[in-house]
Amino acid sequence: MAKYYPTIGLEIHAELKTNTKMFCGCKNDPDEERPNINICPVCMAHPGALPVPNKQAIENVIKVGLAIGGKIADFSEFDRKNYFYPDIPKGYQISQYKYPIVSGGNLSGMEVTRIHLEEDTANNKHDRGDFSLVDFNRAGVPLMELVTEPHVFKTDEEAAKAASNFAKELQLILWYLGVSEANMEKGEMRVEANVSVSDNIKAFELNQPVGLSGRMEAISALGTKVEVKNLNSFRSVERAIKYEVDRMIKLLEEGKGDEIVQETRGWDESKQKTFSQRKKEGNADYRYFPDPDLPKMKLHEAFDLNKMKNELPELPSLKRVRYQKDFGIKDEDIEAYINDPVLGAWFEEVVKILNAKDLAKVASNYITTDYIGLKKSKPEIKYPSAKNFAELISLLGENKISSRAAKDILAMIVENDESPLKIATEKNLLQSNDTGALKEIAQKIIDANAKVVADYKGGKEQALMSLVGQIMKETKGSANPAVAKEVLIDLLK
Ligand code: ADP
Ligand code: ZN
Ligand code: MG
Repeated sequence: MAKYYPTIGLEIHAELKTNTKMFCGCKNDPDEERPNINICPVCMAHPGALPVPNKQAIENVIKVGLAIGGKIADFSEFDRKNYFYPDIPKGYQISQYKYPIVSGGNLSGMEVTRIHLEEDTANNKHDRGDFSLVDFNRAGVPLMELVTEPHVFKTDEEAAKAASNFAKELQLILWYLGVSEANMEKGEMRVEANVSVSDNIKAFELNQPVGLSGRMEAISALGTKVEVKNLNSFRSVERAIKYEVDRMIKLLEEGKGDEIVQETRGWDESKQKTFSQRKKEGNADYRYFPDPDLPKMKLHEAFDLNKMKNELPELPSLKRVRYQKDFGIKDEDIEAYINDPVLGAWFEEVVKILNAKDLAKVASNYITTDYIGLKKSKPEIKYPSAKNFAELISLLGENKISSRAAKDILAMIVENDESPLKIATEKNLLQSNDTGALKEIAQKIIDANAKVVADYKGGKEQALMSLVGQIMKETKGSANPAVAKEVLIDLLK
């Protein structure tokens, strides 16, 4: 079998979080359930109504552009993309063609071609019987579209993972910037994947800066692409790409390469398959032209780009590096904080109080396993104050409580934010590290367990733990098991 290289290019739409719609004063409210409430002559396309661009939406796109290292256009404009469908009452969608707001940039190892701004369409409901309904609440909601350059991969697996990672990272950036809710299930973020496969290794040069002619050559080495839609989760992005790459490879292997045609395919979640939807329109069919009703934009004059760049929040990529460097915690822990920045901020507060790197790791362990575990079974619990949580970790670090006691105390302070030292004292959970007293108890246990002692002396390491267990029982858990073990080893020498 020949080796086939999949190529992926992504087109990702995200509804922007603004007060009003893109070109009118209607409320931009994705949670409005009553149909046709947030509408006006502009977004209903009444004749003579004039659009006015929403500055907040443009600013949001610029923020995303700055966050991914893209170039913000000096000159930008809106174009009409003409087509007929009941979800687009004007007969055209206002979009951007030649002069997108952002060009270039890079995210998760993939090159970004552009980010432009357009208006969302109305919502058609086809599931009500033998007629269709149109809800214009969404018509004219600001929508950004990010397009990536095609990227060549070695395997279907690698391609699928890279695409979903890219989409996840973009979603994080949109959250961190506060520009979109980007919930895929709700359609606030929609991923379309362009997929092709090629057996020509020259295609790989596309991933390198090879200059224009090298690039042309690499592009001509790519296979015919299809565009896959209806991807409502990161999992379906991965599965659809794998399915599509494998489908194409199979056709090529069977000598049926001419059955791969440029088309739009849908992802059928229940069948876990893609299916042909329609042959793709060429751009010429849309007859793009600049919208004469809208002003041209000089973005470098209208926005203070340096100030905007300086005011960007700390983004996930830098936060990962800082967490790694400052706290040395596990990658999974870092991801937990990246995905839940409020949890991350709490962790940082705890660490600030602890002021010790090795305890930061212990604290992180208790947060990502024990605290998250408690939260899973009881979603209503809250973070205890950083002060009390830090105190818990300190007690543990100083060996004043056992890890068992720490877990029990944690379960208490998430319900009732109290001092762990106070709880430990009241509930008799403080461990004694007093070897003198322990020695006495240990000797008693040794005397009463001749058989276990013989087992231990005969080489059964496990037997020692049984003795430690008995000491713990005898001291009602207040002994420090590590110390108890040492005392036993000492006495049994
Ligand atoms: P179209 O003219 O069909 O819209 P574009 O060149 O604008 O195509 O690209 C649309 C998307 O398809 C981009 O994300 C691009 O990276 C991707 N793409 C282009 N060619 C290929 C290919 N051969 N295989 C996979 N993706 C591709
Ligand atoms: Zn309106
Ligand atoms: Mg295109």
